[in-house]
Amino acid sequence: MWVARARTYFLVVLLFLFFATLSAAQSKSISIGGGSIDITLPSGEPAAFQDDLMEWVRRAADAVTTYYGRYPVKHLTLKISADDRDGVHHGVTYPENGGLIVISVGRGTTKEQLMNDWMLTHEMIHLAFPSVPRRQHWIEEGISVYVEPVARVQAGQLSVEEMWYETVRDMHQGEPESGDQGLDRTHTWGRTYWGGAMFCLMADVRIRRQTKNAKGLQDALRAIMNGGGTIAEDWEIDRALAMGDKATGTTVLMDLYHEMSDKPDPMDLDAMWKKLGITVEGKTAKFDNSAPDAGIREAITRKPSAQK
Ligand SMILES: [Zn+2]
Repeated sequence: MWVARARTYFLVVLLFLFFATLSAAQSKSISIGGGSIDITLPSGEPAAFQDDLMEWVRRAADAVTTYYGRYPVKHLTLKISADDRDGVHHGVTYPENGGLIVISVGRGTTKEQLMNDWMLTHEMIHLAFPSVPRRQHWIEEGISVYVEPVARVQAGQLSVEEMWYETVRDMHQGEPESGDQGLDRTHTWGRTYWGGAMFCLMADVRIRRQTKNAKGLQDALRAIMNGGGTIAEDWEIDRALAMGDKATGTTVLMDLYHEMSDKPDPMDLDAMWKKLGITVEGKTAKFDNSAPDAGIREAITRKPSAQK
């Protein structure tokens, strides 16, 4: 009787170990910047592909940690699925469990594609800002669009020439079109993603002009995150912007919000690039270090210290 029971018990333990090993093969965890990331990898894929995915996750986490001084949340759940499309796509970030990202990667995606990917970094940046009302969704996307390439330059993953070339090439998509209103009122793709990024660029430059380049948008965004403003929190936008302004000793974010939220407020981007000393030649950017805001341009992508 006892022997039979022991045998049953033994079998149950064996079965448990068998399934635990099976599921463990698809789940991995990494620690970075004071946070931990629990990763669900797609099952049944070649080991080399799984290794590339892990390196891709580490790079994105490193870029975000470099920019923010630490990983934005204590714990992130990251679910990666594989499909037959090309490259990285369908990244979405949710507030659940303190932070949840789901993202898809095509099975044929090369290591080089993964190493040059921007999407996972973009999603992880969403963790570092509170959830605001729907009409202000542009600030969440604008921060991710603007900060992602800056963070990758600071982490040594992207050249500064490539970053400014792409920024100059794409930023105009945020300009108001005829009939568009302020960022709180016109919710097209261009205004949401690139209009939000224009807000961030202008904020960064103005903060740096007003503080003699001692502070930037990075200081404001770090302060908001360190003040508890992560994706799991529902805040009004004013609370976040006021917290950011306090950190830079300016009123740039609130002023700019009042300028851009309810009227079109077009921006002279060509004048902006000229002052920053950026010209585009072919598929790269060239820099003029005698331009009035050249020091600001250099400071934006400078690698910060961890405890800024
Ligand atoms: Zn986004």
